[in-house]
Amino acid sequence: MEKPKKLRAALLSSPGLGHLIPVIELGKRLVADHGFEATVFVLPSRSSHAEAEIIESAMTCKLLDVVELPPPDLSAASLGPDAAAGVRLVAMMREAQPAFRSALTAMEARPDVLIVDLFGTEHLCIGDELGIPKYVYVTSNAWFLALFIYSPTLDKEVKGEYVDRAEPLEIPGCKPVRPEDVVEPMLDRSDQRYREYVRQAGQILMGDGILLNVWEDLQAETLAALRDEEFLGWVLNGPVYTVGSLVRPARPAGLGKELLEWLDKQPSESVLFVSFGSGGTMLAEQLVELSWGLELSGQRFIWVLRKPTAKSLDGSFFDVGKVGGGNELLSFLPDGFAVRTRDVGIILPSWATQVDILSHPSVGGFLSHCGWNSALESIVNGVPMIAWPLYAEQSLNATLLVEEIGVAIRPKELPSKKIVGREEIEKLVRTVMVEKEGHTIRARVKELKSSAEKALTKGGTSYESLRKMKEDCKMRIHRIKKAH
Ligand code: UDP
Repeated sequence: MEKPKKLRAALLSSPGLGHLIPVIELGKRLVADHGFEATVFVLPSRSSHAEAEIIESAMTCKLLDVVELPPPDLSAASLGPDAAAGVRLVAMMREAQPAFRSALTAMEARPDVLIVDLFGTEHLCIGDELGIPKYVYVTSNAWFLALFIYSPTLDKEVKGEYVDRAEPLEIPGCKPVRPEDVVEPMLDRSDQRYREYVRQAGQILMGDGILLNVWEDLQAETLAALRDEEFLGWVLNGPVYTVGSLVRPARPAGLGKELLEWLDKQPSESVLFVSFGSGGTMLAEQLVELSWGLELSGQRFIWVLRKPTAKSLDGSFFDVGKVGGGNELLSFLPDGFAVRTRDVGIILPSWATQVDILSHPSVGGFLSHCGWNSALESIVNGVPMIAWPLYAEQSLNATLLVEEIGVAIRPKELPSKKIVGREEIEKLVRTVMVEKEGHTIRARVKELKSSAEKALTKGGTSYESLRKMKEDCKMRIHRIKKAH
């Protein structure tokens, strides 16, 4: 008997590692666990060595086809040189539409389903043109999704700037969002980025369902609110599939000989990893305080160091992986810092193989900007965090990790608003790594590590969720065929 034809998924990733990595990992799962064939379309920013490396390894893993779309022409997008990373991303994705459409139609085997990430919602219409089901993969968490899909309602009901409110924003069935935690695109309602964000929130509903990079146990209440008609279920058009935690698998060889040897020599869970994602930078004054805080804590550390910027935030989002000169970088640190800490600390310029470091048994803490991929990578490796949010939706993630999930501690004030002093940093580092006060988060993150593992194994909630998504997909394909 002839074998049934496999479903072919076309996945579209927007630029940036925080999108590219989870989209590629989703593609791999669809193929390895659920019998799909998958083509991942990527829109590389082409300024990044790390991005090129990840695309290359996805191409060589043999599970997926990877197609690089040509760089879009942004001349009509009238972007100023200071355009925020988010604005540039939206413009790049919009201008890429003709190229994506023709790449899809040129595929030898027509795709049966389209999956786009959050910045790709404008491309959902292509799914309709091709007559195939289409889904949106939100590479973030359920609280973020709740705020996102509720933003058109907030837009109608709330007057004035969200950040100026005295009261938190109420989201039905969910933890309220404090004004200081609203996501970056919601900070200025007169800005074009805000209008785009609210529009995108409407577009996501054109999909046949949403895939979310969490697992059921991680955010049970918020997920229940998203599915309940009385709370947020009425906003959504289709089901929410929890597919996480999809993170890049660790490869010990990725560490390099020197770093691996150093890590192997350190006691178990004794090293703090310090890194601010693919784009995070900070002010020069904050770098100095962070150096002192690390040194005063007396703890071991690996620090991915970037040049300070005049404005903290997403300074290097499109330059990630460009390795800057080590000596130049050291000039931003207090005199003698590198010498005094040479036995306990390692400084890596600009970029590190993060999952490989987090998965090493000597690593016991992560000072992180709280990008969602970083948070997941920390949790699945059982590493508690110090939350240091900088931009995008990171404040929201930090609050979630500290107050709801219980795997992180944080400075008293937002690091993007106020310099965090050395004594406070010293205390945070000691708490997460060694003090008794840190015991609860250390224990909680271990618990979640095993719940994350279970979710992805056969029969686990995330495995089952992707299986259901496949069933839903088949049912829709059948319906579309019947209607024609
Ligand atoms: N990353 C890495 N090395 C670095 C910085 C980042 O491997 O030096 C990876 C990290 O492991 C994660 C992704 O890049 O998978 C960053 O995604 P995240 O959502 O954490 O933050 P973003 O960079 O999108 O703000």
